[in-house]
Amino acid sequence: MSKRSTDLETFMEGVISHNPGEVEFHQAVREIAADIIPWLQDYPEYMEAQVLERMAEPDRVISFRVCWEDDNGNIRVNRGYRIQNNNAIGPYKGGIRFHPSVNQSILKFLAFEQTFKNSLTGLPMGGGKGGANFNPKGKSENEVMRFCQSFMTELYRHIGADVDVPAGDIGVGAREIGYMFGQYKRITNHFTGVLTGKGLEYGGSEMRPEATGYGAAYFLEEMLKTKGDSIEGKNVLISGSGNVATFAAEKINHRGGKVLTLSDSAGFIFDKDGINEEKLQWVMELKNVRRGRISEYAEKFSGAEYHAGKRPWGITADLAMPCATQNEILEDDAKTMLSNGIMAVSEGANMPTVIEGIHHFLSAKILFAPAKAANAGGVGMSGLEMSQNSERRSWSNEELSKMLRDLMIGIHKNCNEAGMQKDGWCNYMAGSNIAGFKKVADAMMAFGVV
Ligand code: NDP
Repeated sequence: MSKRSTDLETFMEGVISHNPGEVEFHQAVREIAADIIPWLQDYPEYMEAQVLERMAEPDRVISFRVCWEDDNGNIRVNRGYRIQNNNAIGPYKGGIRFHPSVNQSILKFLAFEQTFKNSLTGLPMGGGKGGANFNPKGKSENEVMRFCQSFMTELYRHIGADVDVPAGDIGVGAREIGYMFGQYKRITNHFTGVLTGKGLEYGGSEMRPEATGYGAAYFLEEMLKTKGDSIEGKNVLISGSGNVATFAAEKINHRGGKVLTLSDSAGFIFDKDGINEEKLQWVMELKNVRRGRISEYAEKFSGAEYHAGKRPWGITADLAMPCATQNEILEDDAKTMLSNGIMAVSEGANMPTVIEGIHHFLSAKILFAPAKAANAGGVGMSGLEMSQNSERRSWSNEELSKMLRDLMIGIHKNCNEAGMQKDGWCNYMAGSNIAGFKKVADAMMAFGVV
């Protein structure tokens, strides 16, 4: 038996030497391997088959040039990617991210995590992720359209309703999905469910925009329920002000919690009176229509403060939902949150907490919901969008709301069972890793050495 499978550090040495410089990818693999390797000691069949090693090697890494012309007639060149990590349990599935920080390491981490997350949903979806180092901020509508069309002109040959079904992520919302779907259809002449997050007029699903944020709030609610507690009356820190953050905030409001903060990449706002439904509608319009900055909130609503260049974790609150981006809760932030009495953290963003921060949360035995479980509602709804597309039908908002709620209750139950410790505290991190791993591993074992 390889020593790589039995010892975390030896395993990680192999991962690091095969993927030099890809620090985010190393971080994501380490987070999962730290739980899986001890668990594997009781399951030598997975170790002998090197299943974890195989999962940490993407099936395929596709990288391509994206050339487009800006409004001034300048030729611009970006790099596009699609990482097809694992399709053992279904077609590759995962979002597309347009952000200047995008690189191979970040997309490999996201595709790896996605494999476990998609498995947790119980739906037949493998793991993938894609994107480009393109910054949609400050670009005109036509520039965004030309970029999306050029991106799809290469991507279309690698995807398909039974092959790989991308969705949105940071910088890719309904507008970008529309441009990409239009280009896919133009090139292939196929109207299929090749992308999710589509507009309702052309095959999109009710509840998809709300699903990730609502789902992360539902998971939080389920964790609190195990302690006989609820969201009602709690103060909540939320970071980000995009799709996930705003719908997480909406559900917290529905449940009687008070949202104190929102942020973007330039800073955060703190509203001690709470960001209620009306203020939230204003934020959604600011971000989705005017494409403005969160700093404008403090100019609009008296009593609100704007903190430039900072994240919200120093504000005292009961609950936290990081919903912006990876590595936004640093070790010191986690310590501050704990000393301020935080009870629970539900990760709406992917890998928002650094490993050292997670260790502090787990040592303090608070309720900590890792992203792959807490934010799985989005991809779960995408899976249902795929089903609706292939059956050429659509479920109502009410039906899908119930399905989302049930999906999150089911994911919580599986993670809770797999992560329950002898002292009655649940390690949701370990629970989600083990529950997500097992289904993919069993499918891979069935296929033999491939
Ligand atoms: P959006 O593009 O809608 O919003 C992203 C938000 O995060 C914006 O407020 C953005 O601010 C902020 N942000 C982006 N990069 C940084 C940064 N480097 N530092 C600080 N803030 C930053 O994206 P989503 O809401 O869709 O995604 C947010 C997170 O949730 C991501 O981690 C994504 O992978 C994850 N996720 C999303 C899903 C979905 O369904 N959309 C599904 C599962 C996970 P600014 O406008 O200044 O860039």
